This record gives sequence, C-alpha cells and structure tokens, in this order.
Amino acid sequence: MDAELLRARVEAVRANLAAASQGRYPAPKMIAVTKTHPAEMILPLRGMGVEDIGENRVQEIEEKLPALKENFRIHLIGRLQSNKVKYIIENVCLIQSLDRLSLAAEIDRQAQKHLCVMPVLVQVSPAGEPQKGGLPPEDVRAFLREAARMPGLRVRGLMAVMPLSQDEAYLSGLFADMRTLFERLREEAIDGVEMEELSMGMSGDYMLAARHGATMVRVGSALFGPRG
Ligand SMILES: *Cc1c(COP(=O)(O)O)cnc(C)c1O
Repeated sequence: MDAELLRARVEAVRANLAAASQGRYPAPKMIAVTKTHPAEMILPLRGMGVEDIGENRVQEIEEKLPALKENFRIHLIGRLQSNKVKYIIENVCLIQSLDRLSLAAEIDRQAQKHLCVMPVLVQVSPAGEPQKGGLPPEDVRAFLREAARMPGLRVRGLMAVMPLSQDEAYLSGLFADMRTLFERLREEAIDGVEMEELSMGMSGDYMLAARHGATMVRVGSALFGPRG
C-alpha cells in the first residue's frame, strides 16, 4: 500500500475524531490496528506521528516484534490464552482484553516473575455477546475488586467490542451505556483501580464512540483498507 494513501487516511481519521469531539469530551487517541499487515506497511506510520498500534495475535506480535519494538507501543487487543502471556509480557504496553480471573492470575504471575507491572483494560461485552469475549457489565465491579488485589496488574480502565450493526441508535445506546459504566466505576474509586481509559470504537463506528467519550479508538480497515 502506498504511504501517501496511508498518510491521507491517518489524517482523515484524525480530522474525523477532532470533529466528533467538538462536544463534551476530548478527542480520543487513535490506536492503529495493524493485525494481518506486514511490518513494512506499518513502519511508515511512525513518520506520521502514530505511536500506538494494536495487534490481536501473540504469534504475529512475536514475528513482527524485531521490526516494530523500537518504533511503537504495542497494544494487545485480541483474546489472549493464558499459556501465551509469557511471550508478550515484556513486549506490549497494554493488554486491552482481560476478561477472566484465570487470565488475570497468569498476567500477575508473569509480571512478578519479570519484575514488571502490566497495565490492563478489562474487556466488557456491552451487548452480552460472550463469544466475542468480555464480561457482562454487571460483573465488572466484582472483577475489578479481584484484579486490583494482584500486584502485577495495573488496571487502567475498560475496553469494549460492539456488536456488528449499522443501527446507529442502537450503537449509540451501547456506547452511552459504556461511558456511564466507566464514569460510575471511576466515581467509586475502587482501591488499586485507575479508571482512566475507555477503549471503544472501530473503523465503522469510531466517530460515534468519540462522541460518547471513548478515550481510545481502535482503527484498522479505515487506515489499511479491508482485510483480505
Ligand atoms: C480488528 C480489530 C479492530 C479494528 O477493526 P477495524 O474494523 O478494521 O477497524 C478493533 N478492535 C479489535 C478488538 C479488533 O480485533
């Protein structure tokens, strides 16, 4: 893919985020989702001021790591198997897809072993789609209390994957629900939990997410085109 086209798309997403954030909330940070794309397609992003990229597979992170690690902060955004935590614990800046206690325990164990503290987001399923991963909203509070007790974890906020839908009113409602949950939990000030980040919105709905107070959006195909 042509770097000039990529630059134009990066700038378009930034402009759209700024426009969508004219209201109540500051513009969210764009995480460029680079899964399935080779390192040489990703590297030009660095010259465009993009510092944060999202990947969803451990093996792919390992393969691309030599080319990417000096240039980007890598966010893990996909479902993570506990037995793979050890391969990424030192290489990602944020695990966005923490959705079960067994995984939290393994991240905690590996972080302590590597003498680090792993920043995480707790993944919520706003529409109750367990196959996509994510906790039901009503289970999040109890989960946060457990995770906050683990010294190897630093809970930074929430992440959500919305259902595939073109129904703007329906999606708006879910984004608004997520923002409400986020703010309510922040007000509760649970010991050991930082409620600073709300990662929601992808290529099809990032402007809606920005309008509803996302702090990060995860954008892939709007930058790189549809995945093959
Ligand atoms: C692939 C992926 C994205 C980006 O999707 P696009 O529609 O290409 O922007 C965002 N979040 C997660 C969890 C993903 O797996």
